[in-house]
Amino acid sequence: MLAPIGILGGTFDPIHYGHLRLAEEAREALALEQTLLIPSGQPPHREVPQTAAGDRLAMARLAIVANPSIVVDPAEAESATPSYSVLTLERLRAKFGPARPLVLLLGADAFAGLPSWHRWRELFALAHIAVANRPGHPPHARRFPETLSQALAAECSQRFGANANELRTSPAGRILPFDMTPLAISASLIRAQLAAGHSVRYLLPDSVLDYILSNHLYA
Ligand code: ATP
Repeated sequence: MLAPIGILGGTFDPIHYGHLRLAEEAREALALEQTLLIPSGQPPHREVPQTAAGDRLAMARLAIVANPSIVVDPAEAESATPSYSVLTLERLRAKFGPARPLVLLLGADAFAGLPSWHRWRELFALAHIAVANRPGHPPHARRFPETLSQALAAECSQRFGANANELRTSPAGRILPFDMTPLAISASLIRAQLAAGHSVRYLLPDSVLDYILSNHLYA
């Protein structure tokens, strides 16, 4: 049995403790060998990030210093082409081989938006999906199918409700809701607080805050 690899993509504009706890609690709950943290370059389905890919990459690297279970993958941030998760997963599937379980880690908000993603139905052939609760988004993970769009619910009904063991015994295709400490932290909240001149200390690592302040980001 091969230990699963977690994949956490995002704009990380900036990275914060919501992201880091998601990675850490998924590691424990799903027995992940490693999680790849993948800052996007040009995200195709959302607003253009406020900061350059290079800054978001630098902040991600600062945030995970001294944590060997998380590795920053710079490929999307360094690419000039739009960041599509399906292409990233194809690349990682080729790198890790057909048998290795890959687990895409998503917050509840990101999961609910899946049908807007490029070639989203193909994601299930490439990876499992683990969905974490997120304050302000549909109540409990186990009730997602009732609250989702029809397309997503239809696609997910046979895959939904896997347990952590199933994620280890197959390479892709199952959906596992999991509970994490609810943290009502978002990058947009942090950007708004900074723009208003308010403190964001303890919402994100000090090293990331130092980088933001010394580079005059989000001011
Ligand atoms: P923004 O506020 O700019 O939309 P964000 O805080 O949602 O940003 P992203 O980079 O868009 O951050 O998120 C990357 C991934 O992390 C997504 O799957 C998202 O659902 C998840 N995530 C972010 N914050 C949390 C949180 N507080 N709890 C659970 N999941 C989270």
